[in-house]
Formats: sequence, structure tokens, C-alpha cells
Amino acid sequence: MREVASDVFCAEGTDVNWVLVREGTDLTLIDAGWPGDIPKLEASVRAIRRRPEDIRGVLLTHAHVDHMGALGHLHARYGIPVYLDPAELGAAAGGRLEQASPLDVLARLWRPQVLAWGLRILGAGALRRPSVPHAQPFPSAGPLDLPGRPVPVPCHGHTSGHSAYFLPGAGAVATGDALTTADPTTRRTGPQILSPFFAHAPARVPAALDTLAALAADTLIPGHGPTWHGPLADAVALARTGAGAGAGAGAANGRA
Ligand SMILES: [Zn+2]
Repeated sequence: MREVASDVFCAEGTDVNWVLVREGTDLTLIDAGWPGDIPKLEASVRAIRRRPEDIRGVLLTHAHVDHMGALGHLHARYGIPVYLDPAELGAAAGGRLEQASPLDVLARLWRPQVLAWGLRILGAGALRRPSVPHAQPFPSAGPLDLPGRPVPVPCHGHTSGHSAYFLPGAGAVATGDALTTADPTTRRTGPQILSPFFAHAPARVPAALDTLAALAADTLIPGHGPTWHGPLADAVALARTGAGAGAGAGAANGRA
């Protein structure tokens, strides 16, 4: 768990990140790990001397199992609401998930790195199916009335309603899986786009990257991989060339 920008913390579960945004005693949580990451998620809240019930709302980047794991628990135990892009509501509430199937993953298990990852995520609940019937669309356009005043940024492609969240005060953006700095099925590092087999609508990915590149942010907090510091436009350029590793402003970012 690291403070990656002022009052913005990135915590890591099982090969996946979530973000805590602090404002006074209150928190916004962005994404919620695998079902097996619930104890780690609660521990990350306590590590910054807050309680889970201090979370005023959870923002979901997209309805994939590795980002929804704790949502049911947080709602049942603490009554914490969940907000997301309206196009993502159906999948979150129990509809068909737009994600790589177990068969997609099985077909790649001959690669040792993928096998190791497959075993880790099985242990974290990859075959469970969290549903979030209490999820709601964003209550307003523009900045949300939640700690950090997060601004939803539609970047559809990875899923139909994938959203990033821009934190204007911190100059940071939680990019979910629209732009990452790791891919569990490869060894690449630095800003990158996940392998196409993870994406629901790869044809929409370039427009999503254009949207991210236009943000006035210099901290990229991805759904997978370490935080990257530098202008978002540079991160997007590196991802587009497939040359994210160790280049330019991101060279020293492995530490984050
Ligand atoms: Zn993911």
C-alpha cells in the first residue's frame, strides 16, 4: 500500500489493485479486488487509520470478477453503495460478464507464467461469480459528490461501460484495465494495453486511449501493475508503441 499522490493510496491484492482516496475522515474506494482479497482490502483501509464504514462509496471501473470481489461484502456488512457507468450495470447485477472465459485462460496455461497466475487467481476466487444487484449508475454528470471529487471518464472497450476515474486535485487517474502497467500473461512492464483476449471490444480501445491522453494528470494508477508517474499523454504514447518498459518519464517508476 503506497500513497501515490496526495491523499491517494494504491493497494495490491492478488495481481490486481484498488485505490483509496482520502478526504478528512472519509474515503472513496475505486475497485474491490477478487473475492479472496476481502481481508487484504479491509487491512488496507485500516493501514491508513480508517474503518471500512468510512468508505462513502465504491466506484467500479468495470464488472470483472477481479475488480468486484469485495463489493457484496462491503454492502452487506456496512451498507456501502456502488456506482458505475450505466452500460456496465447489467453485467454487475448478474448478467453475462464480458470477460475472458475459463476456457480462454486454459488455452494459455502451457505458458509457465500464465499457469502460475492461473493458480494464484483460483486461490483468490476466480471461479466465483460476485454479483452487485445494488450497483447504481452515477448520480450526476461531472465530478461526483464523494471524497476526492472523482470524475468518471468513459473509456469503453475493455468492457462496454469501462470507466476510468480522474482525481483532479491529486492530478491522478485510476485507469482500471483501459491502460495498465502489467499483464498477467506477459512479462512486459510499463504502460501497456492488456492482451486482446481480455478485451470485449478491442476496436474501441484507441478512442479510449485518446480520452485518457487528454487528461491533465501525471500519475497513472492502473488496475494491474505499479503506479506510473509522468504525463498521461506520454503513458498513452508508450502503450501505443508497445514500448512501455523503462522508457522516458516512467523509467524510475518501478518503485511506485
Ligand atoms: Zn482486471
